[in-house]
Amino acid sequence: MTCTTHKTCMTHTTCKTKPESPFTDEALLHYIKTSDTAESAALFKQARKVKETRYGNAVYFRGLIEFTNYCKNDCYYCGIRKSNKKVQRYRLSTAEILDCCRIGDKLGYKTFVLQGGEDPYFTDERMLELINAIRRDYPAHAISLSIGERPRASYEAFFAAGANRYLLRHETASVEHYRKLHPPRMSLEERKQCLYWLKETGYHAGAGFMVGSPFQEPENLLADLRFLEELRPQMVGIGPFIPQSDTPFGAYPAGNLDLCLRMIALTRLLLPDALLPATTALGTISPQGRELGLAAGANVVMLNISPQSTRKLYALYDNKICTGEKAAECLLCMKTRLHASGFTPDMSRGDPPANRKAG
Ligand code: SAH
Repeated sequence: MTCTTHKTCMTHTTCKTKPESPFTDEALLHYIKTSDTAESAALFKQARKVKETRYGNAVYFRGLIEFTNYCKNDCYYCGIRKSNKKVQRYRLSTAEILDCCRIGDKLGYKTFVLQGGEDPYFTDERMLELINAIRRDYPAHAISLSIGERPRASYEAFFAAGANRYLLRHETASVEHYRKLHPPRMSLEERKQCLYWLKETGYHAGAGFMVGSPFQEPENLLADLRFLEELRPQMVGIGPFIPQSDTPFGAYPAGNLDLCLRMIALTRLLLPDALLPATTALGTISPQGRELGLAAGANVVMLNISPQSTRKLYALYDNKICTGEKAAECLLCMKTRLHASGFTPDMSRGDPPANRKAG
């Protein structure tokens, strides 16, 4: 049954009636669990077709600036968690960040993604200064933030200053599983609340989760898909968990490539308009991982435009790729790879089709 009061409602949190899902729980679990490669291949093909109806062959580029690896959180999977004393910490100055933007803009990027740990140094005031400075120099670019959980008023202030998008993976939509991945002071409820605030504020919001994180069961992945259907984010980041040796999860195995691709494909089928990155983590577990992600329904790549000197220090997991190259090299490499696999690099802002003019 569709919502009669709020037919076009995408953000209304009190709207309880959801549109009917194209998949039953059984069907989704079947695809999550399958080991039949022909079945997976058919799923990828279907997802790619759906993507092509919305986006053609285009792959959108985002310029990623990893501007601080300080973090007050202690997520058990993450290499830049507070308790990891082995990380050399850094934060970029406003001038250094603007330098990254200048280099990114010269290369043709129309989206800057500012990602970092939850660094208390970047108070609302400092973030506003930064957003204002970028907005002043680049009035037409998209500014994406990925700086974790903040009060609603902060999200609103950043939006008013010119930030348009916000990436905040929910990590897992199962309460019990969330507790196994995070220390007690973090909660799934707060994470979800932040995502609803972001949508209600007017951001293009990005949720997402890791595939193969420790203790994950097929039912948890089902819950992730159901949560995405409920939230209807404009973007969804899906990547494999990869161990980082100095974390409590350092000895756990990395997520499975094929399962990751199936989750991307299912997400594309459930949210046809979504912007789905073929993540760096996907490219880390398999040399062709990102191309395979794009062939299974993804349509975005996020390439690093951070300074070469700090790239290795933003070590969320071990063996992260593309930490030695210059921004221009990464871009050229990816464009060449996309052409070789039949995709069309697209340096436009890459907004969702329903809202190309937003922000
Ligand atoms: N502080 C921001 C950014 C976190 S880093 C925030 O809270 O949103 C971005 C993403 O990297 C995380 O959301 C997580 O899904 C992913 N990540 C962290 N550690 C990882 C690991 N070991 N393997 C794979 N992905 C990881």
